[in-house]
Amino acid sequence: MQESSIIQRRNFVKLGTFAATAALLPRTVTAAATNANATASIPVGAPYALPGLPYAHDALEPHIDKLTMEIHHGKHHAAYITNLNAALAGAPDLAKQPLEKLLAGLPAVTDEALRGTLRNHGGGHWNHDFFWKSLAPAAQSGEPSAALAAALDASFGSLDACKKSFGEAASKRFGSGWAWLIVTPDGKLKVTSSPNQDNPLMQGVVPAADLGSPLLALDVWEHAYYLHYQNRRPEYIAAWWNVVNWHAVSERFAAAKV
Ligand code: MN
Repeated sequence: MQESSIIQRRNFVKLGTFAATAALLPRTVTAAATNANATASIPVGAPYALPGLPYAHDALEPHIDKLTMEIHHGKHHAAYITNLNAALAGAPDLAKQPLEKLLAGLPAVTDEALRGTLRNHGGGHWNHDFFWKSLAPAAQSGEPSAALAAALDASFGSLDACKKSFGEAASKRFGSGWAWLIVTPDGKLKVTSSPNQDNPLMQGVVPAADLGSPLLALDVWEHAYYLHYQNRRPEYIAAWWNVVNWHAVSERFAAAKV
């Protein structure tokens, strides 16, 4: 299954409801084929396991430091998975479903406590898996494909203008959360942000205008940058662009187009 089909615009438009769309979401999410180590996908169903990083902990230095990567991946990401597995241990039917389907169908989970855990920790697992695959050592960062560059120009005016908008969204997100570049159901590129571990797959949770197929994500929780940047979130955001995996982003864009 290609990452291609995280959300297919055609399905979104025709079917409309989260349940119907969720049923068509892929069973796995694969990473950019250009990074052989990033092709591992989130397996279907609990118990989930911590996926390995597609590069060494120090590979993103000096932009993201080794200790931050070790703690972020080995402790924070791992904790989301532990809590997700614990919650799903008592919900065998949900435990069999692909994570993307669970996230797209949160409003259908009637147990409020379970719904909250799936939102926070299921979102946490999905978002971090996506985040690691969005990054590459600076020397391998690449650049947007011609098709993506054209779409960025059409939607934002230029790549620099997109970066400016994305950076503002990331800077202004109060407290903990994420900035996203997405393809909306009508096929446009858009910058959004979400609180906590919410993401653009969460129908019925995030505003409808912020739903779409994610192309790129930036974690702006303090645990993502505080050891090296302390309170200087804008400095972290500016440095982070050096380690964006544009190959992965371009492949996601190619796959998201219908
Ligand atoms: Mn994080």
